[in-house]
Amino acid sequence: MKEYSIGEMSRRTGVKVTTIRYYESRGLIPSPARTTGGQRRYDEVGLERLAFLRHARELGFELDDIAELMTLSEAPSEDCAPAHEIARKQLATVDRRIAILTRLRKELARMADADDPGHAGKCRVIEVLGDHRLCIGPHDTWQKHPAPGKHHRGRGSLNGLNESPLEVKTK
Ligand SMILES: [Zn+2]
Repeated sequence: MKEYSIGEMSRRTGVKVTTIRYYESRGLIPSPARTTGGQRRYDEVGLERLAFLRHARELGFELDDIAELMTLSEAPSEDCAPAHEIARKQLATVDRRIAILTRLRKELARMADADDPGHAGKCRVIEVLGDHRLCIGPHDTWQKHPAPGKHHRGRGSLNGLNESPLEVKTK
């Protein structure tokens, strides 16, 4: 049977060693066998699960949802309706992010292309940044459940791969 060290698992999947350990602590991938020296030894199943997890992460799925999807992947006779529901939920999240980014794009294009006298004292970009009232509308962050039309604190992560999102403040 083929065996992989944690370093090989990392190279084969592109997932960082620390992230692999984190996934293991969350129970998302099974704890592997250990050598007598205590080093992790993964088998083909462990590698497949990590690749599945990595791929689902790339598509922006939440870890809790991925756990459910992996459970389903190991129960071939189960009804797969929950998997479609999770995918639909993820689609809705992406649609919301696109809507937010489209508004953001419009705002930035308007700012960037604005006619002004050409000196910093009358710069439209600087003026708008100094006064939100000159904007077209509110700026939602792409957090999970944005409150419509309200300013709020949010966690910003464009691709969902950022495991330590920075705090983004609007207004
Ligand atoms: Zn604004």
